[in-house]
Amino acid sequence: MEIIKQVRALRRIIEKKQIAGEKLAFIPTMGALHSGHLSLVEIGNQYADTSICSIFVNPSQFNNKNDLLKYPRSLPQDINLLKANHCDILFAPSEQEVYPPGLNTQINLDLAHLEDLMEGEFRPGHFRGMLEVVKRLLDIVSPDYLIMGQKDFQQFTLVNHMIRQLQLPVELIIAPTQREKDGLAMSSRNQRLSPEMRQKAALIYQNLLKIQDGIKQIPTQNLESLAAEKLSQAGLRVEYVQIVDGNSLQKVSEPENHEYIVVCLAVWAGEVRLIDNLILKGGWK
Ligand code: AMP
Repeated sequence: MEIIKQVRALRRIIEKKQIAGEKLAFIPTMGALHSGHLSLVEIGNQYADTSICSIFVNPSQFNNKNDLLKYPRSLPQDINLLKANHCDILFAPSEQEVYPPGLNTQINLDLAHLEDLMEGEFRPGHFRGMLEVVKRLLDIVSPDYLIMGQKDFQQFTLVNHMIRQLQLPVELIIAPTQREKDGLAMSSRNQRLSPEMRQKAALIYQNLLKIQDGIKQIPTQNLESLAAEKLSQAGLRVEYVQIVDGNSLQKVSEPENHEYIVVCLAVWAGEVRLIDNLILKGGWK
């Protein structure tokens, strides 16, 4: 695996590969890698000749300074994991490389309220920062395929929106959420959970499954409040549980009138904020 820190060096390698007709798959991450990230690399390798993973903890998507400071970093271990999982190139740039002085990287795009709902309500500015870094990285890497996880459902919905609006020449591939044995979605943040909160966090997936079971018989609002109540009773602090249309992200009250429905939630388990989701009907196209 080649480890590249500078944009110019990466561009030289990529241009050679593109001239040789190779297809490139790109997997952007913030590091502290786990099996969920590695499943994206595996998918990238299935689609393309070369897999390029980036590790960059992007300051512009953190609305909470403390979250940014506490975000886990483990580059030496990440390098070993990527090597063992057949990643071809690791791009690990500095902030200067991603945001060189004088380059305007901000995204001027109508986000059709997709950024204001759910995560957007609790993390103002997060999605503009996320889109800023994804667009900048896409400009640098110019991949054929962009591999992202369903785990961050609203994130890939916004990235899909940006790709369509700007007509970016890249195909977005969504990878299923990888879970621990008890159903907890793998996340770099899980390592910060206390043993007690780690145990409670398993309730998140259990409640998503209950909503899936009930979606045909029970009103969506009741399903949402029942799940929120169960999670709160266990000592998790619920920010939202919402059953939404997968395209517009607007709340769903009559499931029969929608083709694509997703339940999304965010909770605090002690000091750690966790998100998860489950597709209840239809799917992403
Ligand atoms: P992050 O490093 O958290 O920004 O995540 C980088 C990419 O990995 C994003 O596309 C995430 O959606 C994806 N990802 C994170 N956790 C998982 C998981 N448990 N299963 C599959 N993909 C994941």
